[in-house]
Amino acid sequence: MPGRARPRAAIGCGLAIALSLACNRVTIGPVPAADAPSVLLVTIDTLRWDHVGAYGGDPQATPTLDALAREGARFETAIAAAPLTLPSHASILTGLLPPRHGARHNGVYRVPAAVETLAERFARAGYATGAVVGAAVLERRYGLAQGFASYDDVFATAGRAGEAERPAAEVTARARAWLAQHEGPFFLWLHYFDPHADYQPPPPFAERFAGRPYDGEIAAVDAALSEVLGDLERSGRLARTCVAVTADHGESLGEHGEATHAYTLYDSTLRVPLILRGARVPAGRVVPGVIRTVDIAPTLLALSGLAPFEDVDGQDLGPLLDGTAGAAVAPRIAYAETLAPRLDHGMAPLHALRSASLHYVRAPRPELYALASDPRQLENLAETQPERAAAELAALAGQLDGVLAAAGPEESIEVDAASRSRLESLGYAVPSAPVPENGMDPKDGLPWIEGFLDALFALQRGDRAAARSFLERMVAALPTSAHAHALLARILLDEGRADAALLHAESAAHLVPQAPDYPLLVGDAQAALGRADAARRAYERAGELDPAAPLPHVGLAWLALRAGALDEALREAERAAELAPVDASVREAAGEVLERAGAYERALAHYEEALRLAPEALRLHAILAIQLARLGREQESREARARAGPAASDPLLSTRLAIVYAARGEGARAEAILREVLGGRADYEPARRALERLQRERGAAMGTAPADSGG
Ligand SMILES: [Zn+2]
Repeated sequence: MPGRARPRAAIGCGLAIALSLACNRVTIGPVPAADAPSVLLVTIDTLRWDHVGAYGGDPQATPTLDALAREGARFETAIAAAPLTLPSHASILTGLLPPRHGARHNGVYRVPAAVETLAERFARAGYATGAVVGAAVLERRYGLAQGFASYDDVFATAGRAGEAERPAAEVTARARAWLAQHEGPFFLWLHYFDPHADYQPPPPFAERFAGRPYDGEIAAVDAALSEVLGDLERSGRLARTCVAVTADHGESLGEHGEATHAYTLYDSTLRVPLILRGARVPAGRVVPGVIRTVDIAPTLLALSGLAPFEDVDGQDLGPLLDGTAGAAVAPRIAYAETLAPRLDHGMAPLHALRSASLHYVRAPRPELYALASDPRQLENLAETQPERAAAELAALAGQLDGVLAAAGPEESIEVDAASRSRLESLGYAVPSAPVPENGMDPKDGLPWIEGFLDALFALQRGDRAAARSFLERMVAALPTSAHAHALLARILLDEGRADAALLHAESAAHLVPQAPDYPLLVGDAQAALGRADAARRAYERAGELDPAAPLPHVGLAWLALRAGALDEALREAERAAELAPVDASVREAAGEVLERAGAYERALAHYEEALRLAPEALRLHAILAIQLARLGREQESREARARAGPAASDPLLSTRLAIVYAARGEGARAEAILREVLGGRADYEPARRALERLQRERGAAMGTAPADSGG
């Protein structure tokens, strides 16, 4: 099975001395004594090392982290395994590099069950295990929940732009609640997401770090973490707790032409803080040299007195901590990779090796940097001094091949062989060949990648035309970009151009066949074109690839509704809501299907739940007003409409409300609402048609019965 029983990565073999020291160091029994040390692992998403005070950043932002570093040890040069959240966290929690744990990109792959995690080790040793994660990218379906008795990944996603996330204060509140319920030795992992773009620190950090919102987000996390540590201190448990703080990756902040992270492999996104504090960690120690975040899991096991992992890429950092190993610890070299350029845009993937003195990036145009004179990795010696660099490049390339040779098969979030064969029986080829790529070096393609992100922001701002025109140029120049095809398909669908959307959705699905989002788009396009069978097949494929995804069921519910299969529509809508009970947008979608199917009370229940989850979403109040009017609850309907504010005059929702009144026989009220809509937008077709129909019906009604029930 992936991740187990494969040869150790060459990087590990190259460091046999350190390894034998590490592995022989601690082997104690499997059951923790009542006073066994607990472990608090904190990962702060997107935190560059040099924005932590102890590492030379602004100490105003990180008093808690800096205190931990003073009371414990910090590692000067810690290198993450990938500039991507899931792959990097998987490495932190397993001690395996991405080629071996297999979760090599967000949203596409999962950590296979056969891979052993830190949480599984602690759980087996009798520890209470819990996790509180701050972003949807680490939801349990991606495989990191294994070993955690409690994996708190519940999100309310509506009303927030971009990635579903929860703020530091909420992660902390949930962590404190968990700690209050667990008394014995524990392993708790907290994931704070705030420093991830976009940067919108809460008060008072927005004001305190005006003009530096990234630091403001870091400061908010630091303050939130201090509350967790305060609880441990007050309950007398801090002294018995090993605290480890690190990050999954950094943030380019404009260096090397990249705004955020994922598509380059330099220190800006790979170098992270690593701070350890605990009874067996000497205070105030600064450990020089390169270490890797894959070393964290073996180190935490050793510090807890648990047996080491049998065969992982990481090594116990203990010998570096207490200084006893001294010169006997061989210098480490760090491996990192990103498959995001390939999977997102069809460019070449990147692989890197970083030692204390050299930084090597394997790319179509390879890169080599001498870190002593060029710490910011600006002068590529492979291009400026090719003869001098040739021998180093060849040696590093050989080492890199060794790491990649240890790679196991990748496991996408597709569940098992049975669903694969079901897919194939549905007529889907499930290619095992690599994704087609155009060989473009990501550093040459970065302007496209950054342009893509700008298009995404333009779309969020509502500037659809700007986004579309950029994406049309991008797919022409870079037809291997699945991301560009998919976003363009979404825009074209919104514009009612389903035939064009279908072509781009199919391109994306063809480029990355294991990604579940793309068949979903294909399904939406086919459904818009009225091709129910093709749409159904696409939705079913999306569901096979990701059985936990609610949206394929929303799509199937709409198809059933259109086909008049009301029972099936109700079943699929309820299934979607079951899969994402706290996702307001899914609740809303389920409500809409149920409403159309005539299940008004059930629809109302889902709308109310959506509103509870996203009370700031004004249009939900307007939608609720429609349902309440439909059920004759007029007073509540008026109140909901009042709460809707500007959304109460949304033309579509107002037209729907008018149609409800018309159906209830309140023609005059319906007409007044429609006239108001047309007063604001004379060309609004749905309102114009509804008004014409209403007038025809009222005319006919008046011909036979002059008294108007709608008065
Ligand atoms: Zn991340």
